[in-house]
Amino acid sequence: MKKSSLVIVYHRAPFEEIIENGRLVYRDNSSPNGIVPTLKSFFGRVGPGRGAWIAWKQVNSHQPAPFERVVRIEDQYGSFAVSRLALTAEQIRSFYHVTSKEALWPILHSFPSMFSYESVDWPVFREVNRLFAQAAAAQAAPGAVVWVHDYNLWLVPAFLRELDPTLKIAFFHHTPFPGPDVFNILPWRDEIVDSLLACDLVGFHIPRYAKNFADVARSLREVIVEPGQITGDDTAASIGSALSESETPGRLLVGARSVMLDAAPVGTNPGLIERLLHTPANLAMRTGIRKEIGEQRLLLAVGRTDYTKGMRETLLAFERLLERRPDLRGTVKLIATSVRAAGNMRVYKRTQRDIEALVGRINGLYSSLSWTPILLFSNAIPFERLIAYYHEAEICIIAPLRDGLNLVAKEFIAAQSGRAGVLVLSEFTGCAIELPQAVLTNPYSTREMDKAIDLALDMPPDERAQRMNAMRDVVCRHDMDHWVDHTLERFAALDRHDDAYPLGGEPMFRAAS
Ligand code: UDP
Repeated sequence: MKKSSLVIVYHRAPFEEIIENGRLVYRDNSSPNGIVPTLKSFFGRVGPGRGAWIAWKQVNSHQPAPFERVVRIEDQYGSFAVSRLALTAEQIRSFYHVTSKEALWPILHSFPSMFSYESVDWPVFREVNRLFAQAAAAQAAPGAVVWVHDYNLWLVPAFLRELDPTLKIAFFHHTPFPGPDVFNILPWRDEIVDSLLACDLVGFHIPRYAKNFADVARSLREVIVEPGQITGDDTAASIGSALSESETPGRLLVGARSVMLDAAPVGTNPGLIERLLHTPANLAMRTGIRKEIGEQRLLLAVGRTDYTKGMRETLLAFERLLERRPDLRGTVKLIATSVRAAGNMRVYKRTQRDIEALVGRINGLYSSLSWTPILLFSNAIPFERLIAYYHEAEICIIAPLRDGLNLVAKEFIAAQSGRAGVLVLSEFTGCAIELPQAVLTNPYSTREMDKAIDLALDMPPDERAQRMNAMRDVVCRHDMDHWVDHTLERFAALDRHDDAYPLGGEPMFRAAS
C-alpha cells in the first residue's frame, strides 16, 4: 500500500455509502459546500494518490462483518484513500455523544453550567483517540503531515507522536477556545494540553482563540510564548469588539520543542454559490419563495439546534419586535431553520423542545388567517435551496451566544449577490472580527438585540449597500481557496521548522500598517 504525505483525520467520512441496484456505492456528500468539501480540496493540491482521510464507520459489534477498510476515492477533488475505523454504536455514544458533546463542548463554548461529567467514560474517549492515531499512522509516509481536526480527537497527537516521531502533526480547532478560567474546569486538562503540545502546528479560526490556548498552556506547563503577528486592519480585527485580539501568539516553546500557533478563519466558496444561484432550478426556487412571501419582508435565522446557537434569543427578540411594533404584524416573516441533532443526543432534546414551544407560542399569539409570523424548519434544508432563501432574505439574524466561526454568515453574504440585505451578527461568533460592517449585537442583552433588529429594519438603502459591499469584499477575499493556500503554506513551513515565525508564506492576519 502506498503511504500518504497528507493524512486528514476527521471523524466523518468524506462520502456517503448507499445501496444502488443491490450494490454498495460511495457517493459525494450531498452538500457541495461546507467543511468536508473544503478539506477534500487539499487532496487536489498534494497530488494524486498522496492523500488519505481517516474516519469512523459505525459497526454492530466488536467483531464486525468484513467491510472494505480502505476505500480508494476518485472524485472531482482528486484521488485519495479513505481508511475507516470500525467503532461500535456504544463507543460512538460514549466518545462523541457523551464525552465530546456533554463535557467538552460546553466548556469550549464557555457554558460551564452545561458541563456534565457524570456519564463521561474517559478511558473510552482515550481508546477511540488511540485507534484514530493508529489508523492515521498506518496511512502516513515517514515525515508526512497528519492533520487532526477538532476537539473530539484532542488526544490523537500524543499517540501519533509516540507511534512515529518523524510525523509533522497539525491540529485545527473548528470551535472557540476559552481562556484558562473556563478551560481548566476540565478534569482532563493536563492530558489534553500535553497532547496539543505534542503538535508542530495548532490552528484556530481567530487570534483570540490562539491567545486563549497560549494562556491555558502557560497556566498548566512551563511554556514560553513567542510573539507573532499583530492583528491588523486587513481583517478589521480592531480593538473594541468582544472577540478582538491585537496579536496572535507566534509559537510556544516547550522544552526542546516548539509548537507553531496559527489563526485563519475558514472561508466559504462564493464562486460555487454564485454558480448555484444562476441555475434554472435555483431561479425557479427563488420565484416560488417570492410568490409565497409576497410583499412580506423576509427575516432568516439558520443554524443547528444547539443551546450555543442563540435561536431562543432570536425567537424572543422577534416576539418582542411584534409586540413593540404592531405596525409590522402581517408585514414581516421569520424563516427559522434549527436543524435537529442526529443521533438522538439528550443534550439537545431540551433545546429542540424550547424552540418548538416558542415558535408555537409566537405563532399562537400573532397569527391571522392569512399570516403566520414564523416558519420553522427542523430538518436540514438542502444547500441549493438554502442559497435561494439567503438571496431572498432582507435580514439574516445570526445570534449565537458563542460560535467558533459561523459559515452561515459568510454564505448569506455570498448569496446576496446584487442585493443589499443586512446581517445582524452576534459579536461572539468568530467571523464577527472579519465582518465589522455587520450590525453587531450582544445576544445576552435584550436591549442590544432589539436595537440591532430595529437598525436592520430601518436602515437606509445606501447604508445597506455600503455595508454589504464591504462584507462581500472580505468574504470573497477570505474564501475557501485563501484558507487552503494559507494552510498549505503553514504545512510547508513545518519543513523549515527552525526559521523565525511566520516561517515564510502569507500570514492570514496582516501586520497593521
Ligand atoms: N446548513 C444546511 N442546511 C440547513 C442549515 C445549515 O446546509 O438547513 C449548512 C450551512 O450551509 C453551513 C453549515 O450547515 O454550511 C453550518 O455551518 P456553521 O459554520 O454555520 O455552523 P456549525 O453547524 O458548523 O456549527
